[in-house]
Amino acid sequence: MLKKIDHLGIAVHSITEARTFYEDILGLVCEKEEEISSQKVKTAFFLLGETHIELLEPTSDDSPIAKFLESRGEGLHHVAYRCDDVSKQLEQAKEKGCRLIHEIPFTGAGNKQVAFLHPRSSHGLLTEFCSEEQT
Ligand code: ZN
Repeated sequence: MLKKIDHLGIAVHSITEARTFYEDILGLVCEKEEEISSQKVKTAFFLLGETHIELLEPTSDDSPIAKFLESRGEGLHHVAYRCDDVSKQLEQAKEKGCRLIHEIPFTGAGNKQVAFLHPRSSHGLLTEFCSEEQT
């Protein structure tokens, strides 16, 4: 079962440049920056209430984020839903005919278990399931 919106992922060309907007204009505080080498992205997390804003910057030209920026430009990249059991959530979605990008969850930012559904099955918005942060 889904618990809440965990975070919104926003693709940017440069976290350094984009931080100014989130910090100076919106007044949010950056909790941490983290590089996820397996996904070829750098991330920055801002907490707002119970939800995070995750900025995503590509670290390589063949990063999925680089491809997204090329075709769609900066903006909302994905919505992440917190769930108890990512594998089970994926299984249920698949059983109901949903296309998955990841059949098996992988370790993402904050050591969370994460997996993405295919945007063709989610009406154009990339959808992520993620677990609670593991410390
Ligand atoms: Zn995410």
